[in-house]
Amino acid sequence: MRIQELTPVFVEFVPTDLADGDIYISMEYATASHLCACGCAVRVVTPFGPADWVLTFDGTVTLSPSVGNGQFPCRSHYLIRSNRVVWLPPMQRRIAQEAHRADTAGRASTYAEPPATGFWDRTIRWFRRHF
Ligand SMILES: [Zn+2]
Repeated sequence: MRIQELTPVFVEFVPTDLADGDIYISMEYATASHLCACGCAVRVVTPFGPADWVLTFDGTVTLSPSVGNGQFPCRSHYLIRSNRVVWLPPMQRRIAQEAHRADTAGRASTYAEPPATGFWDRTIRWFRRHF
């Protein structure tokens, strides 16, 4: 059964067993987890970060961007806005793969090492590459 609303539960450690309809938020580990809102019981993990998800809390939870479970059989795709699940058309496998590629590229550029400028930086990196 589709979930229409999620209840935020703030925790230090996300529990192993998640309850349907709850979204577990760990600020310590900058991540949230919930069971897929379609009811398929797949665990959906949404880490926070500049290339991942952004959590907004105003008493209710909003998560950006959308949660696209294109890699799961259900292909659920939805927004979480003020605790409410806003359903979007199911993700197509191709679009899910493109989104994954774009995410990976975004993550790579966000977390890429800054260019080595100093002599020691260049030397240390040269050694790391070659030994
Ligand atoms: Zn699902």
